[in-house]
This record gives sequence, C-alpha cells and structure tokens, in this order.
Amino acid sequence: MKVKMDLSKHIDSAHQAFSDWKKVPFQDRQKLLLKLAEVLEKNKEKYAKIITTEMHKPISQSTAEIEKSAGMIKFYAQAENVLEPEHIKTEFNVSEVHYDALGIILGVMPWNFPFWQVLRFAVPAILAGNVVVLKHASICFGSGDEIESAFAEAGFPKFIFQNLRIGHNEIKEILENPLVRGVSLTGSEKAGSEVASLAGKNIKKSILELGGSDAYIVLEDSDYEKAAKHGPLAKLSNTGQICNAAKRFIIHEKIEKDFLPLFIEEYKSFQPADPFKRETKLSKMARPDLADELENQYKKALENGAEIILALERISESEFRPGILSVKEGNPILQEELFGPLAILMIGKDDDEILKLANDIPFGLGNSVWTKDKKRAQFFIDNLESGTVSINKTTSSDTRLPFGGAKSSGYGVELSLHAIKEFTQVKTVVGN
Ligand code: NAP
Repeated sequence: MKVKMDLSKHIDSAHQAFSDWKKVPFQDRQKLLLKLAEVLEKNKEKYAKIITTEMHKPISQSTAEIEKSAGMIKFYAQAENVLEPEHIKTEFNVSEVHYDALGIILGVMPWNFPFWQVLRFAVPAILAGNVVVLKHASICFGSGDEIESAFAEAGFPKFIFQNLRIGHNEIKEILENPLVRGVSLTGSEKAGSEVASLAGKNIKKSILELGGSDAYIVLEDSDYEKAAKHGPLAKLSNTGQICNAAKRFIIHEKIEKDFLPLFIEEYKSFQPADPFKRETKLSKMARPDLADELENQYKKALENGAEIILALERISESEFRPGILSVKEGNPILQEELFGPLAILMIGKDDDEILKLANDIPFGLGNSVWTKDKKRAQFFIDNLESGTVSINKTTSSDTRLPFGGAKSSGYGVELSLHAIKEFTQVKTVVGN
C-alpha cells in the first residue's frame, strides 16, 4: 500500500528554511545561483538523458533545455537588485516602497520542459527570498529529484527547494496550509482553473502559464521563403508540445501558392526517430493518452470540414508522422489547443481578416508576424491579443524579456527582472 506523504512536515521544514533565507542578502543569494548554473552545466548530459527518458524529447533538444536553463540562472545571478526599497518624494520624511518575500510558494509544473519550466519559476522566486515546494508532472518526478539535488549541490540551505512526489489531488491540502503563500502553475487550462480556484478560495496569489494556439502570420510583402523555412521548427520542436509553438499558420492569399510547397517540404523533414540519436528532430509524444487526444482532435477537425494537406499518420502507440490541416473560420477545433505534431493552415485576404482570424480563439501567448512593412507590423502589434508579438522571427521565450499570456493563456509574468517581484509583498512605509 502506498504511504501518504506527510505534507505538513515538508511545509514546516520549508517555513523554517524561509525564516533564515529571507534574511540572506540579495547578492549572497545570487552567488549560490551562479553555483547552481555551474551544477547544471556540469551535469548537462546526465539531466538531458533523464528528460529524454521521462518524456521522450529528442536528446539534442533536452541538452539545449539545460543550457538555456543555465543561461537563465546566470541572468538572475547577475541581475540588478530590483528589490531595493524605492524612495518616493512626498511631504513625509520617509516614504518608501519595500518588496518583502512572501514565504513558501508552490510550483505545479508540466512535463514538456521538465527542467526549464520549474527553474524559470523557482529561480526568481527564490532570489526574492521565497522558498519553493514543487509538484511536478507525474511522469517527471525523476527530473524533480535532480533539480532538488542540484540546489543541494550548489550549496543552497536545506528545504529551500523541495520536490514533493505527489499527485495533483494533494495540491488542495498544500494550498489550504496557511504557511503556503502563493502558487505558480504551468499547464493546461483545466489544471490552471482548478488550482487558481483553490488559491482564490484561500486568498493566495497565483500565476498561470497555460495553453496557446498561436498564429504565425505571413504577409505577402515578407521574406516568406525564410518564414516557410522557419515555420515547421516553430511548430514541431519538442514534437509539437510547446505552449507558444506556432500552431495556426495564417497566410496571405497572394502568397499561398508560393509559400505552401516550401513550407511542406521543410515540414516533411521532421519524421519520428529514436530520441536518443543526436540528429533526431521529432520523437514520440510524452504519453499514449496524449496521442489519443490529438488523434481525436484530428478526426473532429475533419468532421467539421477541415481538409488534409498532409495526413497525420499514427505509426505507433505515441508516434505520428506530422500532419497539416487546412481549416476555415467556424471550425470548433479552432477553440482548442493542438498539443502535438499537427498544424493548422488558414488563408486570409487582407490584414483585417487575418487579424480577426488570429484573435478569434480563447488563447493568446506569442503570435508571430512576418512583413517588411513597419506600418503593417505596427497594426498587428497594436491589435493582436497575446502576451508576446514577434516580428520577422519565430516566437520563443527570452530570459531578458517578460513572458506571459493573455486571455485563457493565463496571467502573471515570468522571466526578466519583472519576475523577481511577482512573489513579493509590496509594503508601503510612510511617516516622519
Ligand atoms: P497538465 O495536465 O495541466 O499538467 C500540468 C501540471 O498540473 C502537472 O503537474 C499536473 O499533475 C497538474 N494537474 C493536472 N491536472 C490537474 C488538476 N485537475 N488540478 C490540479 N493540478 C493538475 O499539463 P501538461 O499536459 O503537463 O502540459 C501541457 C500543457 O501545459 C499545455 O496546455 C501547454 O500549452 C501548457 N504549457 C504552458 C506553458 C506556458 O508558459 N504558458 C508552458 C508549458 C506548457 P499530474 O501530472 O499529476 O496530473
């Protein structure tokens, strides 16, 4: 019989660790972060193998995930101290804004970037003086253990970062514990909504980084050959399992005939292969039930009028030859996220129609627009409903810049200096 974990014991330990950690100067916390980055670099091949074993990411992409995580940690290790009290001029002798650490923050994290997602949330939270307990995706408990060990190896005090091997049913108990002060969830809309409801009920801050169905807009005046070359990777990296992947390719009708053959040729170069081989670009999906879900969505799209450009072909329990569907406005599949190697193609006749198609979904993470015309680019920058707009490049998160979603893609900011303040108490100090 499985013995239930005593969560209150872990939370008490975290709380004790917090009472010392919040007093450690910002620069001393940064020194430990630098060590953490070194631990990641030293163990990069070992961690990459764990990622690929647990969720099947092609090994070169797993290695890149660790390298990107180490780079992100170094950014925070060298960042300006944005938590210094701010002095505001008023009629009082003292009027200041302070940023106090909150305490224990829970991270509920997904399997698609088992190191990056966890560290992207945990590092700025810990730098701000908080401590973290992690509930990782059930298929990534090994990655969670390694991250906990990496913090220990870097010399962080015990219980600053704890990996709890628990199911999602136990999140409720954690959020009901008064010592836990906030939660950051990266995952599906359903999980986000449930966890945010629990946080709200217990009056705790939440950050949600949820799903997306981002547009990759290619206008007729763009370098569409380049857009066609880069588009498939923007969709199929991590076997199509990226929140801010390009999921809907919205092409101006004037270049459809030129763009499509180039795009398809590059798209076909992604074929499933052994994830442990360095040259592999596409792998199997993380779990067979996720492959079932994608196949059902494919059928649903077809039943509602979608046309096949490239068939999605299931070749094993979790493996597909990637597909592309031509989809028209009104197809209910557009209201869903396609999390796997299946892309949507849409055609628009002008900028207004293309914008309407792009925005007509529940999500809004990172749209991408390809055009050489600055005015047209500005029109899309001003009107696209998403956390990020990329111009003449594919969308990807950048440690130096804020990352977050609009609409059902969530709320709150990760990455950049902004993230350091997300789990802090703004305290006003005023008087004579
Ligand atoms: P998921 O099924 O929602 O799982 C994410 C986390 O939530 C896991 O730890 C999971 O635990 C937990 N969880 C699942 N159902 C829950 C529930 N009902 N109540 C509370 N917690 C629950 O998502 P996933 O399949 O791992 O990841 C894919 C999703 O994440 C996609 O929608 C993707 O777009 C999104 N994502 C968003 C971002 C972003 O930055 N916006 C980044 C990466 C991924 P168990 O494993 O134990 O169920």
